[in-house]
Amino acid sequence: MTSTISGGLEALRNLMTGPVLLPADADYDKARTVWNGEIDRRPAAVARVQSAGDVAAAVGFAREHRIELTVRGGGHNFGGAAVADGALMIDLSLLSAVVVDPVAKTARCGGGATLAQFDAATQEFGLAVTGGTISNTGVGGLTLGGGFGWLTSRMGLSCDNVIGAQVVTADARILHASETDNPDLFWAIRGGGGNFGVVTEFEFRLQPIGPLVNFAMFFWPLADATEALRTCRDTAYEIAATTGVLIGCLNAPPAPFVPEEYHFAPGVALMVAGFDTPEEHANLLPRIREKRTPAFEFVTQMPYTALQSMLDDSAPWGIWGYEKAHYLDDLSDDVIAAVVEHLPKKQSPLSFIPIFPLAGAFGLIPDDATAFGGSRAARWAFNIAGLAPTPELHAADRVWVRSLWEALQPYASSGGSYVNFMTDFDEDRVRASYGEAKYERLAQIKAIYDPDNVFHRNANIKPAEA
Ligand SMILES: Cc1cc2nc3c(=O)[nH]c(=O)nc-3n(C[C@H](O)[C@H](O)[C@H](O)COP(=O)(O)OP(=O)(O)OC[C@H]3O[C@@H](n4cnc5c(N)ncnc54)[C@H](O)[C@@H]3O)c2cc1C
Repeated sequence: MTSTISGGLEALRNLMTGPVLLPADADYDKARTVWNGEIDRRPAAVARVQSAGDVAAAVGFAREHRIELTVRGGGHNFGGAAVADGALMIDLSLLSAVVVDPVAKTARCGGGATLAQFDAATQEFGLAVTGGTISNTGVGGLTLGGGFGWLTSRMGLSCDNVIGAQVVTADARILHASETDNPDLFWAIRGGGGNFGVVTEFEFRLQPIGPLVNFAMFFWPLADATEALRTCRDTAYEIAATTGVLIGCLNAPPAPFVPEEYHFAPGVALMVAGFDTPEEHANLLPRIREKRTPAFEFVTQMPYTALQSMLDDSAPWGIWGYEKAHYLDDLSDDVIAAVVEHLPKKQSPLSFIPIFPLAGAFGLIPDDATAFGGSRAARWAFNIAGLAPTPELHAADRVWVRSLWEALQPYASSGGSYVNFMTDFDEDRVRASYGEAKYERLAQIKAIYDPDNVFHRNANIKPAEA
């Protein structure tokens, strides 16, 4: 569904209040970049929308002129779903206002807000919702696919906390979705990705968090990786019932809190973010130390916004990225053996293996309450991320990602994985992530709101046939 935009473009400029960037425009090259430096695509134009009306104009224009559409939130999808050669990109970055109601403990945010923008606004009132671990990720893509982060066990996924949304559908209508307005659409956008339209505004339920939170990191070097991962398995899931926990198989950063001898050393890090009192946090930590003494540890308080951006340097904008993921029921000794065998084989120091325990509130939500692609019974989201500064290292670590992913496939709890951790949206894996019943329900809703599959640059749900 592609053609050229020439001739009609002036008309689009006249229909929108926001700017429309063409290849000759100064900002075009910056506007077409996404987080993954490997992606170098040239859209026909970038529509920098400023309102739902602008989005409706851009969608209507693209359909009339038979131009492919892409939608850009924060630009963080590993496969570069936000940008395509010859397409019209709807860039939501100017739609980033966040309005907080501190009494109702809710926030409305534009569909192009980043987590950093959202957290800065909500923390003014000591409030937060689950977000991801890198602050320049878009609230949009993250929430539409699910949204794991430090608060998952306390509040569930980001999508579990959405209470309403404004959506521009494929026929350029501006709809409200909530439990009472278009409830089928409301269900679908909480996990079903960008398949159902452009979300121009999200409304979230918030909880009091911070402004200071408690943080601890334990590190064990590669030589101790097997026992370290067993320690993480035996303590992390339990601790994660009330705290934010992330296990990272990585190279220690050259940070001030890391002893110099461990700068860049590969190993296992266990990170624990506590949201209650420092005493309650401190009481959790001895069980980790006692099980396996770490090479070093770092315990501190920090602002919640600092926690949310603490890992930004580990995945900088413009790095070349590739990732694959599994859901696992158990970090068994066989899984640990595969990780320990593969960890030293990665070539780029930035490539790493983040493992999220799926505990607490995550598992209390019924599977069919949202469209989220994954079982609430899964215990671990296991991600393998190749992140490299050069194409050569990237090529090597793409092979490394695939090799570890294949080694773990026999232990995966389903044929699918978290759709937001997919670089390639293979139809079979997307289907398997949702499971047949949920996929079929999504396909029926897709047939109502986007029967021609206009929004297909995503973990695509094919519209059910009439
Ligand atoms: C370094 C890094 C760290 C990450 N860490 C986490 C993490 O901790 N937890 C986690 O859950 N995920 C994480 N992710 C995955 C992240 O959730 C997904 O990549 C997500 O899709 C990013 O959303 P985005 O809006 O930034 O991306 P984009 O590339 O802009 O969009 C991704 C998809 O969503 C669609 N989309 C975006 N916004 C809208 C909207 N408002 N309306 C309709 N469609 C929209 C796009 O069309 C595209 O298909 C991480 C990704 C990276 C690269």
